[in-house]
Amino acid sequence: MGSNQSNTSKVIGYTSAWVEFEDDWFDQGASRYAYKGTFHGEPHLEGKPCVVKVYKEEWYERMSEYAWKADDRAYCKAHDMARLFNIRYNTSKPIEFVKPEFTQVDTRAAYNFLGFIPFERNVKGKLPGTSDSVSNIIPANATLAVERYLEGDYVKFNNNSGYLAREDIATPAAFSHFTYHESNGTALVCDLQGVRSRAGYKFTDPAVSSSGTQLGFYGSTDLGICGIVKFFKNHRCNELCKGLKKPKITNLSLGERVVLAKIVDNMPSHSASTHTYQLSLSSGVSTRDINRIQNNIRLEAVSEEPV
Ligand SMILES: [Zn+2]
Repeated sequence: MGSNQSNTSKVIGYTSAWVEFEDDWFDQGASRYAYKGTFHGEPHLEGKPCVVKVYKEEWYERMSEYAWKADDRAYCKAHDMARLFNIRYNTSKPIEFVKPEFTQVDTRAAYNFLGFIPFERNVKGKLPGTSDSVSNIIPANATLAVERYLEGDYVKFNNNSGYLAREDIATPAAFSHFTYHESNGTALVCDLQGVRSRAGYKFTDPAVSSSGTQLGFYGSTDLGICGIVKFFKNHRCNELCKGLKKPKITNLSLGERVVLAKIVDNMPSHSASTHTYQLSLSSGVSTRDINRIQNNIRLEAVSEEPV
């Protein structure tokens, strides 16, 4: 062959594990490209598949370390909430979140094996149907998140597209509602996706929308108060939601409510980003008005009125 076309990353999580991953991404989110990879360096991990998520250049240039730290906060919040939920509901199908390990690209793709001459390859570009050089897509020292690969049918559980049985959705839907209740309205863990098995739910990549913290505190999918309002607009409570508090807007004028509805109704439902310019772009509401609403809106977590 003559060339080594692997990207690798260094030590993961203070172990001697490392990963190699492909040159072409297979999926992308708001802030990252996802690649198929393989673990190496530790006997119990050797050869096992993983997913490597490389932060997009525009994100880590603008936000430095912040992008992955925010994702780590989102994981920790989701993990803590899942622990509480599993105890409180004593469920036979506990919820678990896959822990991401954050690391950096060590060697970038495509060095000529004989002589180590940097050898640029054209790989899949940023947009479908385009190509770009590997160093543009995976810059040296790019930050990345490594997660173990989930075996089984990968499903988006917050997506009520109809083919999921009711009981498949009930627990994830109630879990999201529970996180809002348990955090007293300060955080909502949603966008639940992963695998359901006899042993329980394994989720990856949760989105956390927050209120009372700076916008984007939990990363690129933190939609703030607008995200919370949007979730509850679509959410249908089930048996497991009994007694959980819901958000109530207590202070907006009629005009402001109209603007809020416009933002929420036009919010992209998938791979959304908190950046006000994107919310602005999709809703036609100016970024100034969006910021004003995000900063002024008062959302109280209240108990359901007795029927
Ligand atoms: Zn509910």
